[in-house]
Amino acid sequence: MNMPNDLRTALADAVGAEQVFEGEAIDLRYHSDLRGQPLPRPAFVVRPGSTGEVAAVLKAAARFHTPVTTQGGRTGVVGGADAGADAIVLSLERMNRILEIDPASMTMTVEAGCVLQAAHEAAEAEGMILPLDLGARGTATVGGNISTNAGGVRVLRWGMMRDMVLGVEAVLADGTVLPGLRKTIKDNAGYDWKHLLIGSEGTLGVVTKAVLRLRPAPRSTSTALLSLAHFDDAVRLLRRLEGDMGGTLSTFELMWDDFYELITTANADKRPAPLPVGSSLYALVEVLGADPDNDPVRFEQVLASVIADGLATDAVIAQSGADRERLWAVREDLNEAFANLWPLFAFDVSVAVSDMAAFVADAKASVLSRFPDARLITYGHIGDGNLHLMVGTGHADHDTHHAVDVAVFEAVQRFGGSISAEHGIGSAKRNYIGYSRAPSELALMKAIKSAIDPDNILNPGKIFPDQPEKPHG
Ligand SMILES: Cc1cc2nc3c(=O)[nH]c(=O)nc-3n(C[C@H](O)[C@H](O)[C@H](O)COP(=O)(O)OP(=O)(O)OC[C@H]3O[C@@H](n4cnc5c(N)ncnc54)[C@H](O)[C@@H]3O)c2cc1C
Repeated sequence: MNMPNDLRTALADAVGAEQVFEGEAIDLRYHSDLRGQPLPRPAFVVRPGSTGEVAAVLKAAARFHTPVTTQGGRTGVVGGADAGADAIVLSLERMNRILEIDPASMTMTVEAGCVLQAAHEAAEAEGMILPLDLGARGTATVGGNISTNAGGVRVLRWGMMRDMVLGVEAVLADGTVLPGLRKTIKDNAGYDWKHLLIGSEGTLGVVTKAVLRLRPAPRSTSTALLSLAHFDDAVRLLRRLEGDMGGTLSTFELMWDDFYELITTANADKRPAPLPVGSSLYALVEVLGADPDNDPVRFEQVLASVIADGLATDAVIAQSGADRERLWAVREDLNEAFANLWPLFAFDVSVAVSDMAAFVADAKASVLSRFPDARLITYGHIGDGNLHLMVGTGHADHDTHHAVDVAVFEAVQRFGGSISAEHGIGSAKRNYIGYSRAPSELALMKAIKSAIDPDNILNPGKIFPDQPEKPHG
């Protein structure tokens, strides 16, 4: 067989000429940020329809020494799916099928481009759930969720994406297909390589298919919003609900007063605030149980007792699906409120739950000492120590952004936390990874990358710093 002499022809041979796009034919959605602003246009966008086609694209890229950035739904928030002007974008949007649901094994096998919500709906139609849930569910893909090891609002009970992946099929940078679509929960046959790929942000391989672990669908949902006076009460409330609700507490989202006031004010025309502003903290809690007759009664009794014991000052319990949506909107309907405050710098950090109050105070003081007029907005998936911090200074320039990043990440380092709890490093945080990883850890990561992708074809410019690393404290 004759080998093509140019990359364009090699890509057309790999996926068909109609699935190769370049120049003006490349849609803006492959090279714009979350606010729709254009980014550099990649050299090519290719849309394979099968694992074999993905392998053929990677072989062509390797032969022509061209970088490849894999894209799922492009909802990632750290620039991980942004491609350079010289790169091939490998979009998995055509590989979006649900291949099998196995009720006996409680597994679902999907192509990597399957949208998370489609996977949810297919599982629910069979009386099960895929527990991973996050605000971008309608666009994010399973492949993107795996490659970022996504977390979301139910980590407290079911863990992160890593905990839901039983098997992965992936293609390496040289086009080698790794056939790991296994359904077994127990599998200690040597290195479990899929865990290297999970969370590797498209730098070690392209995930093409996955076997996901499903859980029985809950039969009751009880949701409430509570107001709290002190952070210590939040931790005590969390542990109390975990114990008193017999392991069915699935969500515990904490919002500081700055967040609650901002969101409820910005959305006041759409819906009234469920609880008055003025408390220090607000917790959105959800219990998913198996007994629709008794679970809501038990939930109300437990909430009454925590209020009686002074752990919460007030509570509103959802009485219907519409009520539940209204409560969840306080936590998830953020776009308008945040758009009004633009520019905002977003942080997704984690520290030990016991350190969270001190960390928030430290990080805020650290930012305000440099930017006394800064606005800080705080919320998070508190059950797992994950805090989202938004900082607005009124300026979006590089120096300001860097100074705010340093202020927050120095605080993270003081508490031994992570500069990225669930969003990944991408290009946005790569020059700060030294705040969370020691030089020896980074050296190991680089050795793994070089062993698997020696020519640095897969998603270059992500995760690893482009400047001397910050000494790890
Ligand atoms: C409104 C909103 C809410 C969010 N909430 C959460 C949250 O609660 N928790 C959380 O963890 N995250 C959250 N995120 C970010 C989250 O990381 C992404 O939503 C999601 O996991 C990424 O999926 P995606 O398909 O959009 O991936 P993309 O953005 O397309 O890609 C993300 C990264 O994965 C790589 N990648 C994508 N597909 C593949 C593949 N098949 N093989 C190899 N590499 C691949 C890309 O190269 C890139 O590095 C949120 C984002 C938004 C916009």
